[in-house]
Formats: sequence, structure tokens, C-alpha cells
Amino acid sequence: MSEKQLQLGEDDAFLALKAAWERTLEELEQQVNKPSFESWIRTAHPVAFVDGRVTIGTTSRFAKHWLENKHLPTITEILERQLGEPLTVKIELLEEEGPVIMAEKLPKKPRKPASQEDEPISQPLNSRYVFDTFVVGPNNRLAHACAVSVAEQPGKTYNPLFIYGGAGLGKTHLLQAIGQHALNLHPGIRVVYVSGETFTYHYVTALREHRTAEFRRKYRNVDLWLVDDIQFLAGKERTEEEFFHTYNAIYDMGKQIVLSSDRAPKDLDLDRRLLSRFECGMLADIAAPDLETRMAILQSKAASENMALPNEVILYIARLITSNIRQLEGALIKLHAYASLMRTSVTTSLAEEVLGKYFGESAPPVIDPSRVQREVANHFNIDVADLKGSCRSKDIVGPRHLAMYLSRELTDASLPAIGRAFGGRDHSTVIHACKIIAAKIAQDRAFAALVEELARRIREGKNC
Ligand code: ADP
Ligand code: MG
Repeated sequence: MSEKQLQLGEDDAFLALKAAWERTLEELEQQVNKPSFESWIRTAHPVAFVDGRVTIGTTSRFAKHWLENKHLPTITEILERQLGEPLTVKIELLEEEGPVIMAEKLPKKPRKPASQEDEPISQPLNSRYVFDTFVVGPNNRLAHACAVSVAEQPGKTYNPLFIYGGAGLGKTHLLQAIGQHALNLHPGIRVVYVSGETFTYHYVTALREHRTAEFRRKYRNVDLWLVDDIQFLAGKERTEEEFFHTYNAIYDMGKQIVLSSDRAPKDLDLDRRLLSRFECGMLADIAAPDLETRMAILQSKAASENMALPNEVILYIARLITSNIRQLEGALIKLHAYASLMRTSVTTSLAEEVLGKYFGESAPPVIDPSRVQREVANHFNIDVADLKGSCRSKDIVGPRHLAMYLSRELTDASLPAIGRAFGGRDHSTVIHACKIIAAKIAQDRAFAALVEELARRIREGKNC
């Protein structure tokens, strides 16, 4: 084969980048806490791949900053490994055009230079997340019906609407579909979509910059408030308090509130006053889709990608991936990319070859505090029971603090939940431990390296 033939065409290179980006997402998902991952990494996507230069785009200034400062080396490393060549990776701030639209209609150009005063508080809405692309099945019928109803008549039917369910089951899709449908039906409606994490970030920034009055004015000037992943507020007392007041202000004006969470209100570690308000509204859960629904979703995605997907392949994937629609989509993209690169058609045996190793036996294990405890105890040659016990000896207290810190960094558990996992300690003890370890990491490079190494082992789950 001549050198020329070996080079990938432009489209092929971009397809390869898309597949490599999927893989990068999977790896980062293991390393970054879930709300951050969902808000700042999942929303970014490949934009260009020319001559070893990769551009990843995001529409959020914060995400750009965060990706550049915390994750660029890792992203570059994974992409290089996937694509087999040295790369320069750049994170680019995208305008709101393209596949992403803004929830608030922005003034037409010329725009004033962006200052914080002008910055919309809503996160952008993804134009793919609309009702038309949402497949309804027995698992999500109620949530979908309620979502349509509140989009049609905000503030009139179910208020608040609380949608909950596991990862990758369509909560964000439904919330954003509500926003976009409402914007179509009621031009001029003020829609704000924000994740619990972004709300926290906005509030903390407002506090730091003494702009809470502006924060309140912006947040309370809303007709439809969509708050995604509110479990993120757990353990953040001041933000939760502010959220409570914002909630009441919006609700008392008769405006529509829609919330999502990965668990039911009764299982959330939030202020009881808030939980009782949620429970007064409409609760709708989304369960894992059954086989027929999974097949229907695959069919619909394949059709929208113009991808020929034989029924037997649909059945194969739908049987392989059962509990997460995001993974279902990921599998399809991977298969599509692979088949295009190899210039071959999609068959069950190709699907087995490409997907078996990713989704076959072992999905990456979930990290929880007990896994952290096992790894830390193992490293320091002590018992897990010591970490949970009350012994104040230095040899135990140090590892205990470290295990609390790593639980905070690596798991989705809230501070109170971590406290409980360590023999029923208070969440303030966990905060204290995290501060001590963070200070030590900042001062002591060898210690920082040890923490990194332990974190890596916990993620890989070697000894667990
Ligand atoms: P969650 O917010 O619950 O973690 P998402 O809303 O992000 O999940 O959904 C994950 C992916 O699966 C998205 O790309 C979304 O479009 C897709 N998805 C989820 N549910 C459905 C559905 N019922 N029909 C079509 N696509 C879906
Ligand atoms: Mg989500």
C-alpha cells in the first residue's frame, strides 16, 4: 500500500476522532466526579482534526477553563493512545450557533463585549434533546407525559415536577426537551436550564465577587426553571439555603419548576423543608428501558445517523447493554465509526468484535467509600474496621483522613453519606479531614504522589 493510501481522508480522520473521543469520555467518566463529568466534559465535543491538531469545542466558558486547567494532559494522552500519533489538543469556546442553541434568546449582533452582567445564567440547550427524538416506553411514559404537560402549560399542571432515575436514562434529555418545547409554544418565555453544579458555581462566584443581589435578580426572573441533578447540592449548606430561597421565590410567583435527581426525594441528603416541597409536587421516575424500548431507541438513533443497522445487530446490542441509554448510543457510534473506517457493513460478528470487549463481561465497577476503604487499609496494612472505629492513634487517624478525602474525590457519595460509611461520623468531620489532606498534598510532593497512586489503584480496582 502506498503512503498516500495509508493516510486517512478528512472525513475518516474526523470519524476516527469521534470514536476516540467516545473512548476518552469513558475513561474520564471513571476519573471525574459525576456532576462535573456530565456538566463539563459530556457537553464538549470534537470540532476538528487537521494535521495532528485536535479541537474540542464547548459552549461554556467555565468548562473551557476547567478542561484546560485540569484535564488537558489526560485528554491528550488518551486521544494520542487511541489515534496513535502525537497531538496538540485545543479547547475552543464555541458560539451558541451550530447544534447548540441558547435557552434565552440573545440580542442580535453586534453584541457588547461579554461581561458577567450580560452572561445568561442558563446553560445551553442541546438541539438533539427534544421530544421528537425521545422514545417513549413503559419505563418513562409517566415522566414523558408530565414533561409534555408542563411544557404546554407551565405552572398550571404539575408544580414542581420532579423526575428521578439512574444515570443515562434520559433525565437531562427530558428537562431540555421541556425547555425547547416551551420556547416554541410560548415565544418570549424565560427559560433557565441549570445543573445543580452550575447553580453552585454561580452562587459561589456571586458570593466571592459580592454580586449576590445580581445573582438573585437573575435567578428569580424566570418563568420556567429547569434544575438538573439537584443531588449535587447535598452537603453544600449555604448553596442549599440559597437554593431554598430561590425555589420559594419562583414557586410563589406561580412559575414552573422542574427538577431532576438520580434518586427519589426521600433518599436525598437535602434539607427536609426542601424535600417536603418536592414531595408536594409530581414525582415521576424513569426506570431502565425494557428490551423493546432499547431496540426502538437503537432504531431511532440509527435512522437519524443514516446508518444501516440490521435487526439482528439491533437485537445483539439491545441484549448486550441493558441499563444505560448513553452506553447504548456510545456502542452505536463506535460500531458506525469502525464500519466506516474499515469500509465494511455492520454485521453481528462485527458488533461482537467491536463491542464485546467494551461491554461484554465487566462494565467498570462503581467506586464507593467501602472500595476506597479497602484500598487504603490494604496499603497501610491496617483493617477496614480501624478506619471506621474510634482509635485516635496517629497510624490510624492519618489513613482515616486520607480515606475520607479519597471518598470525597472519587465517589458520588455526599458528605453525610461518607460520614456514615466511616462509623457514623458527622459530615463536618469529613470536611475537616479533607482540609487536612488537601493542605498536606499542597505541601508535600511525595505525599501528593502517594495520593495519586492510591486514587489510580482505586479507579482500576486491582485489589477490590
Ligand atoms: P441522564 O440525564 O438521565 O443521565 P441523558 O438525558 O443524558 O441521561 O440521556 C443519555 C443519552 O441517552 C442521551 O444522549 C439521550 O438523548 C439518550 N436517551 C435517553 N433516554 C432516551 C429515550 N427515551 N429516547 C431516546 N434517547 C434517549
Ligand atoms: Mg443528566
